[in-house]
Amino acid sequence: MLNLTGKNALVTGIANNRSIAWGIAQQLHKAGANLGITYLPDERGKMEKKVAELVEPLNPSLFVPCDVQNDEQIQSTFETIRSKWGKLDILIHCMAFANKDDLSGDFSQTSRAGFNTALQISTYSLVQLSGVAKALMTEGGSILTLSYLGSVRAIPNYNIMGVAKAGLEASVRYLAAELGPQNIRVNAISAGPIRTLASSAVGGILDMIHHVEQVAPLRRTVTQLEVGNTAAFLCSDLSSGITGQVLYVDAGYEIMGM
Ligand code: NAD
Repeated sequence: MLNLTGKNALVTGIANNRSIAWGIAQQLHKAGANLGITYLPDERGKMEKKVAELVEPLNPSLFVPCDVQNDEQIQSTFETIRSKWGKLDILIHCMAFANKDDLSGDFSQTSRAGFNTALQISTYSLVQLSGVAKALMTEGGSILTLSYLGSVRAIPNYNIMGVAKAGLEASVRYLAAELGPQNIRVNAISAGPIRTLASSAVGGILDMIHHVEQVAPLRRTVTQLEVGNTAAFLCSDLSSGITGQVLYVDAGYEIMGM
């Protein structure tokens, strides 16, 4: 039985009730995990308030700001975990960002700055957070990130984010190889397209969703909660033999030739 009782789980990437991380947090909570939530702070504190209200029913025992472009906030997040929890069992890395201009048009026109921004926030952050988290995963652990098919196929307009996701999936393999001897497993879910704040920045996302609904074996897209269910599985002992993998949660679209 899927049981995460006694597990401390840090969930990043909740922006609103459409966020995939919100679907994951709900399912980890349902399975009994003790939750810590991070949010991306803004100047006026709007995000803090919005996310705090949303996650309140899940009774998180830790709620902290963590912009992954800010090393001090990363250090302070894990210091808080050390002092409040003592150990970490689960890390959910569920974030990505690229400038909107770089998510349509010609990929060859991606700027150096745009390339760096996308790779730093969407890819390097997994490496950095894992590097800090491993010291707190004293009883083993599970690290999970979110990817998309654009890592292995040229999907219209996904452009720089495809490169970021390719790097993310490679990072999953290198981290899994490094951390396996400490019984820390590292995996990715490659989710089908879902309407969220981040995906709405990708040109033509609604057409892509419509296409998946026509072509995927299940003739639909997936929900945040379905991704959450798979996340709970990958963070539980039921998946104890799985590491370094990219698991597609996409209604089967990835197997199709169109
Ligand atoms: P979302 O907009 O709800 O979540 C993106 C999150 O990234 C937000 O919570 C945002 O605050 C966070 N973020 C951005 N910059 C950050 C920074 N500097 N520091 C910390 N956090 C930062 O959108 P989502 O679709 O739920 O995206 C979550 C993950 O799922 C992303 O990695 C995305 O690429 C991936 N994904 C999404 C889809 C989809 O179709 N929505 C499909 C496959 C994979």
